[in-house]
Amino acid sequence: MGIMTPISCDSGLSPVGGAPFPRGAALLANSLLNKGTAFTERERDALGLRGLLPPRVFTMDEQVGRVLGNFRRKENALEKYIFLTTLQNRNETLFYRVMQDHAEEMIPIIYTPTVGQACLEYGAIFRRPRGLFISIRERGRIAEILRHWPVIDVRMIVVTDGERILGLGDLGALGMGIPVGKLALYTACAGLHPAYGLPITLDVGTDNASLRADPFYLGLPQARVRGAAYDEFIAEFVTAVRAVFPRALLQWEDFGNTNAFRLLQDNRPKLCSFNDDIQGTAAVAVAGLLASLRETGGKLTEQRLLFLGAGEAGTGIADLFVAAACSAGLSAAEACARCWFVDSEGLVVRNRSGRPLAHHKLPYAQDHAPLRTLAEAVDAVRPTILIGVSGQAGTFTPAILRRMAELNARPVVFALSNPTSQAECTAETVYRETQGRALFASGSPFAPVTLNGRIFTPGQGNNVYIFPGVGYGALACGAREITDAMFLAAARRLAELVTAGDLAMGRIYPALTRIREVSLELAIAVVAEARENGLATIALPDDPRAELCARRFEAVYRDYV
Ligand code: NAD
Repeated sequence: MGIMTPISCDSGLSPVGGAPFPRGAALLANSLLNKGTAFTERERDALGLRGLLPPRVFTMDEQVGRVLGNFRRKENALEKYIFLTTLQNRNETLFYRVMQDHAEEMIPIIYTPTVGQACLEYGAIFRRPRGLFISIRERGRIAEILRHWPVIDVRMIVVTDGERILGLGDLGALGMGIPVGKLALYTACAGLHPAYGLPITLDVGTDNASLRADPFYLGLPQARVRGAAYDEFIAEFVTAVRAVFPRALLQWEDFGNTNAFRLLQDNRPKLCSFNDDIQGTAAVAVAGLLASLRETGGKLTEQRLLFLGAGEAGTGIADLFVAAACSAGLSAAEACARCWFVDSEGLVVRNRSGRPLAHHKLPYAQDHAPLRTLAEAVDAVRPTILIGVSGQAGTFTPAILRRMAELNARPVVFALSNPTSQAECTAETVYRETQGRALFASGSPFAPVTLNGRIFTPGQGNNVYIFPGVGYGALACGAREITDAMFLAAARRLAELVTAGDLAMGRIYPALTRIREVSLELAIAVVAEARENGLATIALPDDPRAELCARRFEAVYRDYV
């Protein structure tokens, strides 16, 4: 982030400078203020920049042209990631201009799928730290470490302990790429000022033996600390966040599922927070489901959902589906009976032998004979919707997809596992095996598929559609907590934003090029929901659209003199 002057914030969602304005080399090193070759002649004279820059002054458009040329010349996605990260560390305004104007091209680099590869190689490509690394060795000193952050009014924290990074497993401290990427999306998609975001990695070790043996591993090369010591560490962290950054909203990110549900439940009352893997994924999947019903003509309350994977994402989606189905007239028991799960040990049923079912699976343990495979479960359940959240590539086999097409005129198939390498099936397989009848969405992007002369454009069922808008809306109205009802409101609004043109192309989400508009609409829906339930603490006009627009960070250069 460069050497960032401490910034204090007054109201609204844009920080106001407090410290003296930097000059000369310090200004060029400040990524939030730096304009590089775009500093004007007057600024160069007034701010001690003469000689520190080449003489020609460029416009921002010219800088964007140069960035795009260099970006597109990079040979692979990881090189593009490194290039963009370097730009972000040098000149954030230019970085966000490029991100905003070329969202469809940039988001798959800064986020899934490339961020997965970047995390795997974070030790090797590490240039300079971004965010805070807090290790379990620093127990007792967490508040002091939070105060080392140069911004005193942080509003959005994204924190991981690196145990379940995308579908890639335990990457320990290398998981930092995820909070960094998600915060970049808060700014690029919703307009949160970049100074308000703080990425944090809690390093409690890693159970990934090859990482521990890697001489370039950046984290603590020790087994994960678990149990009481882990819980005490997290409790100290939560207390420290409340004390040091009392206005911050916190997003739990990519924790393993033995901790994720617990951390969310235990800390929700203490800290305004949500878990994106559970709640954000749920909202994006329910939105996709609502949009797909416009094509299949079915009713929400009549769907049968079969999930592969009964972790954070799967049961999170089912919980939100149940909430939506209940508001459409079903009882909770009736709605739960419509959600079926296959996990690593087979169909989730009440009388399953072996390990006891984890708490989050219990509402969905059905009365049925145990079945081992997904194929058997498809035959037994006859799902209208098949959802992959297992992190297991290729598990939606051609035979399973053909069976879905036998059972349904318009089968709905979501292969949500990230990154692309872990998706349960490819877009091509699903369209081919269902003769183009499937409504398909994937977690990471797939290129359009041509089948019998028709082009299918798969939608990306990714929570990038959800969390920036939900977080921005919650911050804008000072929401006391982030409720499931807010996620349901966001899901409904997202489904409404899918156009007839999107559906005609086979896409059940809006184009990523509309992500700023989508995030704004979701933020407005969240503000409305917060107000209705008395959770908003900041007064906004009755129609908050203009206010929310005006508060967004705009990636344009300001005149400094
Ligand atoms: P998790 O670890 O909580 O759950 C994984 C589940 O998969 C577990 O229930 C496990 O038993 C099951 N599983 C593992 N191997 C299996 C197998 N061979 N057969 C059947 N089930 C198996 O993880 P999670 O947070 O639920 O995430 C799962 C996947 O979903 C990841 O790949 C993640 O990237 C993806 N995800 C996508 C989005 C999105 O926006 N599209 C959001 C969140 C998570």
